[in-house]
Amino acid sequence: SSFGFRDVEAGEKVRLVRGVFDRVASRYDLMNDLMSGGVHRLWKDAAAARLNPRPGETILDVAGGTGDMARRYARMARRAQERTGGADARVVVLDYNAEMIAAGVEKGGEPEMVWTVGDAMAMPLPDAAVDAYSISFGIRNVADVQAALHEARRVLKPGGRFLCLEFSRPVAAPIRAAYDAWSFNAIPRIGEWVAKDRDSYQYLVESIRRFPDQATFKAMIEAAGFRNVTVTNLTGGVAALHHGWAI
Ligand code: SAM
Repeated sequence: SSFGFRDVEAGEKVRLVRGVFDRVASRYDLMNDLMSGGVHRLWKDAAAARLNPRPGETILDVAGGTGDMARRYARMARRAQERTGGADARVVVLDYNAEMIAAGVEKGGEPEMVWTVGDAMAMPLPDAAVDAYSISFGIRNVADVQAALHEARRVLKPGGRFLCLEFSRPVAAPIRAAYDAWSFNAIPRIGEWVAKDRDSYQYLVESIRRFPDQATFKAMIEAAGFRNVTVTNLTGGVAALHHGWAI
């Protein structure tokens, strides 16, 4: 494409998509629902509203999985375009797992969406290419979080927005206690029961625990060159939205 994104080619799609959604992503979607009690949908709605996609913008959703956030951005930009006019938005979904991308393609996209295989730490995009960068439940999995944040800054235009939705640290002790019980006991059991894979869900819980808290992560975003970084706690800090500006 004109941006040099490594799109999934049409022929490759046909080979990749068949059955992938059933094999990989439908179970993953079910786990998301089970683990968050369906609340991740509301968190994603709040995140998309915060990003506020506009007509004509290029929006990049990193670790985009099957495109949950990208579909929201595409529809929101189109609704704004219907009111105010302007050019079509473009929403790029980037994920390093080709099977997730293939499953997203199979699930169905919006006309504004482009699917790309690539790594958050070294994205196949030029400097200053996008108006907004988002990453939802993805940065926790990236091997070098600070490198991914610098890479986000690199691909954003000056004045561009950064948005991250991620599990975080519940702020109040009672919520923290309930959440600990839920995550350490229930989630690995659900993982064993639904996915026949207790270890992966144990890992998931531990990766949430290891991830920096709201203030620490905010400082990391600032260290990557973002300004006016704000934190919004969701469900008492079980998840958090970090938003910042590339200057
Ligand atoms: N953003 C989607 C959502 O909110 O539903 C998917 C989140 S899923 C829990 C995490 C995704 O991050 C997976 O699709 C995985 O392939 C992707 N991922 C992990 N590390 C990555 C990296 N270094 N670069 C790109 N994608 C990555």
